[in-house]
Amino acid sequence: MDADALISCGAMTLQFVAEYWRSIEKRPVVANIQPGYLRQLLPLEAPEQAESFTSIIKDLESTIMPGVTHWHSPNFYAYFPTANSYPAICADILSGGIACIGFSWIASPACTELEAIVMDWLAKAMGLPEFFLSSGNGGGIIQGTASEATLVALLAARSRIFKERKVEDPTLTLGRLLDQLVVYCSDQAHSSVDKAALIVGCRLRKIASDADCIMRGEQVQAAIAEDRAEGLIPFFIIATLGTTPTCAFDDLVSVGRVCEKEHLWMHIDAAYAGNAFICPEYRHLLNGIEYAESFDFNPHKWMLVNFDCSAMYLKDRTHFVDAFNVDPLYLKHAFQSSAPDYRHWQIPLGRRFRSLKLWFVFRAMGLDGLRAYIRKHIELAKYFISLIKPDERFEIVFPAAEQLGLVCFRLKDSPNELNERLLKALNEDKRIYLVPSMVKQKYILRLAICSWLTEEKHVRFAWDIISEVTAKLLSK
Ligand code: PLP
Repeated sequence: MDADALISCGAMTLQFVAEYWRSIEKRPVVANIQPGYLRQLLPLEAPEQAESFTSIIKDLESTIMPGVTHWHSPNFYAYFPTANSYPAICADILSGGIACIGFSWIASPACTELEAIVMDWLAKAMGLPEFFLSSGNGGGIIQGTASEATLVALLAARSRIFKERKVEDPTLTLGRLLDQLVVYCSDQAHSSVDKAALIVGCRLRKIASDADCIMRGEQVQAAIAEDRAEGLIPFFIIATLGTTPTCAFDDLVSVGRVCEKEHLWMHIDAAYAGNAFICPEYRHLLNGIEYAESFDFNPHKWMLVNFDCSAMYLKDRTHFVDAFNVDPLYLKHAFQSSAPDYRHWQIPLGRRFRSLKLWFVFRAMGLDGLRAYIRKHIELAKYFISLIKPDERFEIVFPAAEQLGLVCFRLKDSPNELNERLLKALNEDKRIYLVPSMVKQKYILRLAICSWLTEEKHVRFAWDIISEVTAKLLSK
């Protein structure tokens, strides 16, 4: 590689990104193209001869950008946020530039050590229990996604129960055990739980949440009793803090107590809401975490760290090392017992230097800056509530114990079909972007504050559009 070329091409790339950020507000938030548009713009075969970097960068605007949905536009209110910031972008460049693979301590010691340190920083900033720190039996690891974390936790829990049951019955096979294993989650849990259960091959039982979309211990206990009576083996539950449809918080204390009594592994998925726990005023939502075996949330959603960075904490890492330990000679090294080898805590072998992103963001923003960012989004959601609440046409639905940055609403006393038409009209209007959800047979609209560029004037703009499009729809 020619270092001078890297400097000039790098400058062109950064210039492009900077201009993108400057112009993002003016771009249509959702791509206005049809499936297959790119095939018509690009050649059918890879080029035989090298092309200039300038021509590649030039083609970005005419070919790629028309097909981009601008997740960081201040007019993007869909899903949950995806995070981004200049220190994280720079750290990602460094991760690509240094390009080491940190699957074991020896493979790149700084990669492992920085990850353990920043994951401890993060745990302390959130007030997580000490058993999640690397100084004890547990520790933190950066997984790619919350979905991966759920799958990894489920696999480790399966391995633990298999080991325990095999002591009682040495002839037991995993296949036979799998037939009996039951995983639980709320009917509001993310679809990644369904996927993890599918992959692992366990039956999944969904617990009916209450009217506020909260899963409670009493219902979990009743389901476990029924399943045990059927000869099944309950062994794993996912509790959610901040559900995707409405940002509801499962009752960790009552669910956790049941898990302790019934010997179930509790994994907590706090993909979005977990980020708020760096603010002391939201920490009470973590009450009951002491019952958890594993906990995960996504700094890549709401802590200014670019995708992918999912922070997973384990109470006892030996369950993971036992479940995922394969140890060929070429991966062995002399320091295996004195430092974590993250390859045993995850599914792939290879891993990028993702901790750089957390380190840069912590240092460039400070915990105070990160708290201010989270609080600002929550204030913007409250501002939206202050605009929509006095309007008789709407109702706010399923308000969570802590609203955070998500507001769910619908047309008051109206059929689902009318709300579906409202969402369609809003997204066809194309000035803002929202996604719906179906909760307790109600079609609802979700407005999530997503971009770090979003200010009060954008929320006001979104509200004006919602109001205008609604007036048009209702007048028909
Ligand atoms: N869990 C919850 C509660 C979510 O809201 C989401 C995504 O929004 C996920 C899991 C999936 O996250 P990831 O894309 O990191 O797998």
